Amino acid sequence: MLIIGPPGSGKGTQAERIAERLGVVAISTGEIFRANVKGETPLGVEARKYMDAGDFVPDSVTNKMVLDRLSEDDVRDGFLLDGYPRTTAQGDYLDEILADGGQRLDVVLRLTADDEELVARLLGRAKDTGRSDDNHSVIRHRLKLYHDQTEAVVAKYAERGILTQVDGVGVIDEVTSRAIQAIREPHAA
Ligand code: AMP
Repeated sequence: MLIIGPPGSGKGTQAERIAERLGVVAISTGEIFRANVKGETPLGVEARKYMDAGDFVPDSVTNKMVLDRLSEDDVRDGFLLDGYPRTTAQGDYLDEILADGGQRLDVVLRLTADDEELVARLLGRAKDTGRSDDNHSVIRHRLKLYHDQTEAVVAKYAERGILTQVDGVGVIDEVTSRAIQAIREPHAA
């Protein structure tokens, strides 16, 4: 399954919790990039230029990384991808990877929250984590990219009938419960 939501919607936190409940591995492209930045790998050096500015890392780089990750053994019985795909080209690429591996998406979960709530949350998170992409102008830019590019990806999954969505605002436990319920009964959401 996939979890999609704007920056600050809590998708990383929820992805971990949902994956644990479902017994599948959670894969966050943002986390993989941050680990590479920290380790100063060639991928990290390349990705950092984009991440600090709140831009998307180019599709060619991101797609290759996801292909490598989805080639590992631990994803065979299912996985939860967090933060990918973010562009329609990435969505098309994911379809190809899954078709090649004889897998298919069961459900796409979208977390919703309004922009002002998200900006407030991200500015709060910046104080705790010191993430270099959590400052005001970069936050606005990341939100704009979400609206301009990622919502088109969400629309495609809605057309396919596999999209379910929950309100991402609230106590972490409550959002997790809502999400698990929505995944179990996707058409009731
Ligand atoms: P996240 O932790 O999901 O908010 O991702 C942090 C940053 O990593 C993003 O702002 C992008 O710069 C980069 N990133 C993560 N996932 C992707 C993706 N699917 N495509 C392009 N860039 C990504």
